[in-house]
Amino acid sequence: MDGRALAAKVRAEVAAEVAELGDIGLATVLVGDDPASDIYIRRKHEAAREVGIRSDDRRLAADISQEELLEILAELNEDDSIDGILVQSPLPKHLDEAAAISAVDPAKDVDGFHPLNAGLLYLGRPALVPATPLGVMRLLDEHRVQIAGARAVVIGRSNIVGKPMAHLLLQANATVSICHSQTVDLARLTTDADIVVAAVGLAHLVTPDMIKTGAAVVDVGMNRTEAGLVGDVDPGAAERAAFITPVPGGVGPMTIAMLLANTVRAARSRRGTVLDRR
Ligand code: NAP
Repeated sequence: MDGRALAAKVRAEVAAEVAELGDIGLATVLVGDDPASDIYIRRKHEAAREVGIRSDDRRLAADISQEELLEILAELNEDDSIDGILVQSPLPKHLDEAAAISAVDPAKDVDGFHPLNAGLLYLGRPALVPATPLGVMRLLDEHRVQIAGARAVVIGRSNIVGKPMAHLLLQANATVSICHSQTVDLARLTTDADIVVAAVGLAHLVTPDMIKTGAAVVDVGMNRTEAGLVGDVDPGAAERAAFITPVPGGVGPMTIAMLLANTVRAARSRRGTVLDRR
C-alpha cells in the first residue's frame, strides 16, 4: 500500500476543497527548539502551503510559562481567521501537555487529541480524529480491504495512534484486539488476524511468521536504526501479506495529508458546510 501516492491524491482533494472554500488558516505552536519537532513543523507548513492553506508558525521560547502558553492558545481560539490549531509534542517537561491540549478549541483541534474529540470517537460519533489512524483507514479503504467482520489486531495503545485506531476499526465493524507491552503471546493473536496495525516503536517486532497468509499489514512504526528508518514489521512479512505498507513511504506521508484534510474539515464545520466522507 503506497502511502506516497495516496497522500498525493489526498492533497489534491484538499487543494480542490481549499480552492472552493477560500481562505483557511492553520496555526502550529512549537515550544523550544527540539530539532525533530522543527523538521515535523516545517514539513507541515510546506504541505499546507502546497495545498493553499495559510499557515501561522508560532515559535515560543523553551522557558515559556504555562500561563503564557495558555494565553497564546486562547488568542488563537478567538482568532476567526484560524481554522485549525496544533500544539507540537513533546512540550518541555515543565509544561502540562494535557492541559495545553484541553485548552485548544475542540472545533479547531485538527490533531484530534482534545478530550472532547477523543470522547466523541469513543462514542462512535467521530468529529476530528487523529491524523495517523485516519490515514491508516484511508489506506485500507483505498485498497478495498474488507474491514467489516475482519479480525483486527492493533499493537500499541497510545492516545494518538493505538486507541483511536482501534476505535475506528471497531466503528467499521471489525472485531478488534488491542495489544500492548503486557500482552502475553502476541503472535497467537496476530497469526489469527486479517488486519494487523503495528504502532509500537520497536524495529521489526512483528516477524513474518506472526502474519496470516493474505492479511493486511499496516506498519505505523518509525525506528531510526543504523540501517536507516525501519518499521515495526519485518519487511519479510510481505511474503505472506496480501497488503502491506512500506517504511518509509507508507503511513508517514498519509499523516500529514490527513492533517490537511482535518484542517479543511474543521474549516467546513466552522462555516457550517460539513462534507462527511467518513
Ligand atoms: P507510544 O506512545 O510509545 O506507544 C507505544 C505502544 O506500544 C504502547 O502502548 C506500548 O505498550 C506498546 N508496546 C511497547 N512494547 C511492546 C511490545 N513488546 N509488544 C507489544 N506492544 C508494545 O508510541 P506512539 O506514539 O503510539 O507511536 C508508535 C510508533 O509509531 C512509533 O514508532 C512512532 O514513531 C510511530 N508513529 C508514526 C507516525 C507516522 O506518521 N508514521 C505517527 C505517530 C507515531 P504500553 O502501553 O503497555 O506501554
